[in-house]
Amino acid sequence: MKFFLAVHGGAGVLERDKLPPAKRARVEEGIGRALQHGREILAAGGHALDAVEAAARELEDYPFFNAGHGSVLNHRGTVEMDAAIADGATRRFGATSLITRLRNPILLARKIMDHSVHRFIAGPAAEDFAVLHGLSLIDNSSLITEERKQQWLQALKEHAVKLDHSAAQKGTIGAVACDSQGRLAAATSTGGMTNKHAGRIGDTPIFGAGTFANGQCAISCTGVGERITDHMVGARIGSLMELRGMPLVTACRTVIEQEMPHDSAGLIAVDASGGHCFALNTRGMYRGFVTDRTAPTFAVFADEEI
Ligand code: ASP
Repeated sequence: MKFFLAVHGGAGVLERDKLPPAKRARVEEGIGRALQHGREILAAGGHALDAVEAAARELEDYPFFNAGHGSVLNHRGTVEMDAAIADGATRRFGATSLITRLRNPILLARKIMDHSVHRFIAGPAAEDFAVLHGLSLIDNSSLITEERKQQWLQALKEHAVKLDHSAAQKGTIGAVACDSQGRLAAATSTGGMTNKHAGRIGDTPIFGAGTFANGQCAISCTGVGERITDHMVGARIGSLMELRGMPLVTACRTVIEQEMPHDSAGLIAVDASGGHCFALNTRGMYRGFVTDRTAPTFAVFADEEI
């Protein structure tokens, strides 16, 4: 049985001196837990979709990352989250955005994919749908951490909309998997960018931008959502593979390293034979992977090969 699972915890201009070993160990612990959870599902012969959902949920719950509890704040000082999940085998997709009262938006994205005739439902009506399908609503304030509040106050002072450009703050989360039957899936979840306009929707829930899967590849992106959407990163990689016959790694590197602006994005990707790629044009991206034969492996900075 062969399987592959990768996760990311956001890309940005990470600085080595702002990531002491103790802090790095805590990030690796979060990533390691997500990999472990997903791995158990894949090792039992489970579906790639269930593995990426479980890994994403774990990362949403870990307050270090910019998803679920610990999400960044928008201009109004509230958390508004986007999430999506994609099933490569059936080309089904579920997405949601402008979510303010759920602990795990990825669970709602999955419910939309499985139980709605629609693919993308946003805002309060999406939260009503969540309740109808068994999810509980929580207070927005319970998603906010002190660290994110300080980060937001700083961004307000600077009149800036910010990606997590420091090792002290971790980013958006995502997972991609290829299961033992060669089925591919991707999941991404985020609070977006600090001090973003209320109502802003990023790349994460847009199929073919920040989240994508088909029969050949599964992709989860992180970085400046507007740039990822400009370049339709997921769909572009899918077409380079399908129409130009490019291998996964070449297609990912072409888009991230040659076509996109420097310092704008990173991604994790897997193909149907379990081949994978971590591509980034930022200084770092929290990332890790596990396979049926290997223990979890992690990396943070761009020059670390995994
Ligand atoms: N891509 C996310 C967004 O723009 C942010 C991130 O990856 O950290 O919403």
